[in-house]
Amino acid sequence: MTAPRLEAAGLTFRYDAATPLVEEWSASFRAGEVVGVTGPSGRGKSTLLYLLGLMLKPRAGEVRLDGVPVHGLTDGARAHLRAHNFGFVFQDAALDQSRTVLDNVLETVLYRGGDRKASTGRAEELLEQFGVSLRANAKPGQVSGGQAQRIAMCRALLGDPQVLLADEPTGNLDPESSDVVVNALHQQAARGAAVIVVTHDPALVARCDRRIEL
Ligand code: ADP
Repeated sequence: MTAPRLEAAGLTFRYDAATPLVEEWSASFRAGEVVGVTGPSGRGKSTLLYLLGLMLKPRAGEVRLDGVPVHGLTDGARAHLRAHNFGFVFQDAALDQSRTVLDNVLETVLYRGGDRKASTGRAEELLEQFGVSLRANAKPGQVSGGQAQRIAMCRALLGDPQVLLADEPTGNLDPESSDVVVNALHQQAARGAAVIVVTHDPALVARCDRRIEL
């Protein structure tokens, strides 16, 4: 049997507090599924997403990508892996305020050393799909929270990630825009990605293939 696309095995993590926020947590995420992670505020959902996205290193346990442990790689190697295999949508979108919307979307491809011209068409298509194409030349400071969230989705999807991690991606959206986002999560799963989404949104939870309550 093939290994899960992404796997957490016995993950333990704490910031400064004596009690671990995440303790011996294990879960498997298969290619093709959209998994919802739910639970009360402060439980550690975002932290878990950072651990799965290789932005934080666990104190114990492993994160495996296609069966290969990747949590302990050097910062550079993890950054490389993130740029090539992961898409991440931060809760607050986390767009770079100094660049245009289009350049924000192109960020990962440029970081990878990809061709700007070759990727611009696809970036524009994504912005169109998410209803934010008119904003391509705007700076993130000029767009609304809901628009920023959709732009962050475009950025995460442009690299066609094998693992897509999204933190409350429909948090600021009306039902119609939410639908576009949820459809895109499923489309990426259908392309072979493991999709993990932290959410409080009942409509999104209802459309996840599986739910993990923290
Ligand atoms: P959730 O996403 O479930 O709301 P978080 O992962 O955002 O939970 O946060 C869990 C706990 O960890 C909270 O009590 C939060 O204050 C704390 N926390 C989050 N980030 C940090 C940090 N960088 N340093 C110290 N504590 C943090």
